[in-house]
Amino acid sequence: MNPTLTGKHALVTGGSRGIGRAIVLALARAGADVLACHQNPSAQADQLAAELKRTDGDHHLLQADVTDPVDVDRLVEEARTRYGSLDVVVHNAGVISHVPLPELTAAEWHRVLDTSLTAAFTVLQKTLPLYGQRASVVLIGSRAAARGIPLRAHYTAAKAGLEGFARSAAKELGGRGVRVNVIAPGVIDSDDIKAIPADRRAELVARYSEKTAIGRLGETEEVAGAAVFLASDLSSYMTGQTLNVDGGI
Ligand code: NDP
Repeated sequence: MNPTLTGKHALVTGGSRGIGRAIVLALARAGADVLACHQNPSAQADQLAAELKRTDGDHHLLQADVTDPVDVDRLVEEARTRYGSLDVVVHNAGVISHVPLPELTAAEWHRVLDTSLTAAFTVLQKTLPLYGQRASVVLIGSRAAARGIPLRAHYTAAKAGLEGFARSAAKELGGRGVRVNVIAPGVIDSDDIKAIPADRRAELVARYSEKTAIGRLGETEEVAGAAVFLASDLSSYMTGQTLNVDGGI
């Protein structure tokens, strides 16, 4: 059983910052060639592109909107041209949004569901022809799916949908050697959380220090560790599962 990703080709959506960035770097350091995408130009994307150039392997970062099927086609074509096949697909792109239900617009509902849930379907369906004899699809969900979070009905619905999608896809594609799993992070100290004003951040850190068994927020690298595990042969008999990475909430 190969614990590394040497010789494997991976695609990661939403790789420019936060959890996605940590996943891109962890997959690359585990030996995979990684093609990642992000939505907007940013200094963080430039930094990641520079870091990938310094990392062994054939890595690339592209701008592509996962809610636009034409962009996803372009991304998949890039993977086909560069690698010929894919062994690992991580759909991490997502948007966090807090809106009270009475004020939730259809546009915001669709923005959140399109990015997390519909794009998972689009990316999986369009990458399927590139999978070799075995492939691992990892979808980044959220502990919100099982717990429910006020002001995030749309986000929670999207992430709960991902888990059902993964269970069905796992059963349908298992015979083709394709595994589909979800990672459900708890509160992870990603860029958005770090940017919260100091007083609210201190309150959040204190709350989750009490709520979690481990007594702190998670680090992006700790989610990336689970992604490398699910991507590798170490998890070869796991599919249709949700792996909680939440410090024991
Ligand atoms: P960030 O907001 O830090 O990063 C989001 C990433 O997704 C960025 O790379 C962003 O690109 C990309 N992205 C967003 N929309 C699109 C799109 N339409 N097309 C392509 N790329 C897109 O998020 P986090 O790192 O905090 O979260 C990553 C994932 O983990 C999300 O799915 C989130 O729901 C989930 N999660 C996060 C938790 C947390 O505590 N942080 C907890 C539980 C789950 P760009 O930089 O160009 O905007």
